[in-house]
Amino acid sequence: MHELSITQSMLDLVLKEAEKAGAKEVGKINLVIGEMTGFVDESVQFYFDFLSKGTIAERAQLSFRMIPATARCRGCDKAFECNEFDWTCPYCQGNSVEIIAGRELFVESIEVEEHGNKGA
Ligand SMILES: [Zn+2]
Repeated sequence: MHELSITQSMLDLVLKEAEKAGAKEVGKINLVIGEMTGFVDESVQFYFDFLSKGTIAERAQLSFRMIPATARCRGCDKAFECNEFDWTCPYCQGNSVEIIAGRELFVESIEVEEHGNKGA
């Protein structure tokens, strides 16, 4: 239920921001998800649909930006995209690497409808 609780806190944040902006409806939510979080857009969408029922974000469209897992080699200082099982540097075959991207998980921005009017 990890994804459920994370999706819930993202929704809480969105609703709080929307309220602050005086929004009647949330039109779009832009999310950034790092590959290493293990989150997949379909399941976030699934939980979101479930959790947002009855809120002003109910009809919001989710937009996902996936960030690939990226590491930097400590040996040759090159950055490379890595897959789940292979953390070896493709340039020097070193295996002392640090993760520099792929653990992101946040709401980048939201778009709101101030008057609940989609025709604008
Ligand atoms: Zn290397």
